[in-house]
Amino acid sequence: MFYGEIKKCDIANGSGVRVSLFVSGCRNHCPGCFQPETWDFAYGRPFTKETESEIFQALRPSYIQGLTVLGGEPFEPENQKELLPLLKKIREQLPNKDIWMFTGYVLDQDLLDGGKKHTEQTDEILSMIDVLIDGPFVEELKDITLQFRGSSNQRLIDVPASLKACQVIEYVPAF
Ligand code: SF4
Repeated sequence: MFYGEIKKCDIANGSGVRVSLFVSGCRNHCPGCFQPETWDFAYGRPFTKETESEIFQALRPSYIQGLTVLGGEPFEPENQKELLPLLKKIREQLPNKDIWMFTGYVLDQDLLDGGKKHTEQTDEILSMIDVLIDGPFVEELKDITLQFRGSSNQRLIDVPASLKACQVIEYVPAF
């Protein structure tokens, strides 16, 4: 897996102060995407053991609420394979940090069993995510007033509650 950037003090991509990992590679190709350079799976730098240590180091301070993974597209199968061990380690070693993820795919159409991006890793990845922002960017539905989203079709999803209820449950930020 390659990544374009790690933001170590990010307040734009989730609640609180966060570490954000921008992975490379996206096949959604949404018209109007604001970062088409990240569609390339070889964009940026390779994700190595050193990168993982850098992320852990950045996550440790108590003022950091958690990790956000965005892209590019975290749910491309190539990226899921590499993200699963990272998320597992975070859950084991830093259980107080929350995990947010952005995807251009749609949870109940593409990521659940039978969906076009459901892989051997997907269920386990979803089980470790607190909040998922899903759906492609749709230029005609662009709305700059939306929190954490670019267009109004995109949803903020409470993943644990949704998996428990077997239906999509919206996440409502506390601020
Ligand atoms: S999913 Fe995100 S990165 Fe991929 S094309 Fe759409 S807006 Fe761009």
